Amino acid sequence: MSNLEARPVETDVTRCDAMAEVFEPRVVPLGGLRAMSVERVMPQRGLPTVGAWCFLDSYGPADVAMRVLPHPHTGLQTVTWPLAGEIHHRDSIGSDVLVRPGQLNLMTAGRGVSHSELSVSEPLHGLQLWVALPADHATMAPAFEQHVDLPVYDGFATVLMGSVGDATSPATTHTPLVGADLAVAGTRVLPLRPDYEHAVLAVSDLTVAGTPLRKGQLLYLGTGRSRVELADGRAFLLGGEPFPEDLVMWWNFVGRSHEEIAGARAAWEAADELFGTVPGHDGARIPAPDLPGIRLTPRRRRQ
Ligand code: MN
Repeated sequence: MSNLEARPVETDVTRCDAMAEVFEPRVVPLGGLRAMSVERVMPQRGLPTVGAWCFLDSYGPADVAMRVLPHPHTGLQTVTWPLAGEIHHRDSIGSDVLVRPGQLNLMTAGRGVSHSELSVSEPLHGLQLWVALPADHATMAPAFEQHVDLPVYDGFATVLMGSVGDATSPATTHTPLVGADLAVAGTRVLPLRPDYEHAVLAVSDLTVAGTPLRKGQLLYLGTGRSRVELADGRAFLLGGEPFPEDLVMWWNFVGRSHEEIAGARAAWEAADELFGTVPGHDGARIPAPDLPGIRLTPRRRRQ
């Protein structure tokens, strides 16, 4: 039984070294044959970004199929990190790969890319994250990279992006950030950069910075920490320099204005060459939802 009283109260943001706030995920149906759903913990009210990390879904473990037909992205990188099950990734720049546990799959959308993701073995368990590209890289050419040999810090922290201690990932980043999978037996201490803000997702139940977390919860740690203690479970660390730009996020697009997002939506609906073609689907694709009847505005951090 979880102790709801363990949820920390909000702390004064000027006392960054004491900040620790728990965010709850919400269940989002993805649709598809067996109605796969995910737990989305970012973005949400009060937490638009952690560093440049702007989106975090967890799925499974569940005996479900993932069937995500071709859809577009702009202005972001997708970080796919399977913990169980294999996913077939195809995209408009010619990538056609199996995504396996222990492998980092990093797709940089830049000005525009489209891709599909279909599971080929279940059960499925994993994480999907997005990293916002800074304005000076938001319209770069799309790219895809797969990393099968990631560095491990102190035997428990697999570094996907950025560095933990002296372990540095080969993955391409465009802002100062860190992402790491933490498999903790007993009590371990992870070094942090005090100039980064950090958050830890509970992949299983575990304790982070003295706070017991249930699977799916995210503990936001703020900036100003040089270390964090973890005990007994699996987690994912995300962090980075606080992202200075206001982002407009809608559907699968990250931009900086309503007009930019509306333009990307219109280009996808018009099958514009901006997004290319994902081979093997005979034109099947996910149509964009209607824009809301209001102007899209940036999400801002709760003050
Ligand atoms: Mn996608």
